[in-house]
Amino acid sequence: MSSAVYSVQECPTCGRQLQIRVEYLGRTVVCQHCRGRLTASDPASHRYAATRQASEELLRRADELLRSVDEDLSRSRSYDEIRRLSL
Ligand SMILES: [Zn+2]
Repeated sequence: MSSAVYSVQECPTCGRQLQIRVEYLGRTVVCQHCRGRLTASDPASHRYAATRQASEELLRRADELLRSVDEDLSRSRSYDEIRRLSL
C-alpha cells in the first residue's frame, strides 16, 4: 500500500493547515483556500541542512547551531499550539 507523503504546513495568509506533497518542498505553492503564495518547507530538512553546515565548520558554527536549535524548538512549539487549536 503506497501513499503520497505530505508535509503539513500553515498558510501564512489564511492560517489554515495545508497538506503539501513532499515533492513540492522548497518550491512556491499556492494555498487552495485563499490562493496566497507560500514557499513549501519542511522543518526537518532545515534541521538537516543546519547539521550538515555545522559539521563543516564545527567549532566556529557551534554557537550558531545552538541558537538555531533554539529557534527550531520555539517554532515547533507554536506549530503544536496551532495543531491543538485546529483539533
Ligand atoms: Zn491560505
